[in-house]
Amino acid sequence: MLNSFKPTWMVRSIYQITPQQLKQNKIKAVLTDLDNTLIAWNNPEATEETLEWIERMKEHGIKVIIISNNKAKRVSKVATILDLEFIPNARKPFQKGFKEAQEIYDLTKKDLLMVGDQIITDIKGANNAGIRSVLVKPILDSDAWNTRFNRMIELRIMNYLIKKNPDMKWRDSLDEPIEH
Ligand SMILES: [Mg+2]
Repeated sequence: MLNSFKPTWMVRSIYQITPQQLKQNKIKAVLTDLDNTLIAWNNPEATEETLEWIERMKEHGIKVIIISNNKAKRVSKVATILDLEFIPNARKPFQKGFKEAQEIYDLTKKDLLMVGDQIITDIKGANNAGIRSVLVKPILDSDAWNTRFNRMIELRIMNYLIKKNPDMKWRDSLDEPIEH
């Protein structure tokens, strides 16, 4: 039952994902969660690292789309700074935002990769939608108040999954997928 929370990969940070790794896996576009995945939740400013990663993806023709449960106002503010497309009010773990991404950008499930720091929303959502996923460590150890409760439940699910699946380990690239 808890297998629906299992990511395809576990990589410490989104910045370790390279265009080469994506091309090897035939991924054309990255759907990325916003808060604590691409940027710190409490700081709308993009770091040099974020900007460089986005630039590298663009150079290699990989589309990056922010998919967030947050409101359009907040998401668009950051997306404009980063010059990225975005899907707000995505309602992860439901399929709404994932379907929108496929329709708007004319992409198939296989073209897409979801990257996020939360198994309850990002990873479960990707699994529900049949999209491969990467779980990353949250950029900050702290969370917005509305995320704290989920984080507590996630810790318990992760502990259970890791106990049952010894191959669920943090890595530095997409080289080793987790068995499903
Ligand atoms: Mg997040």
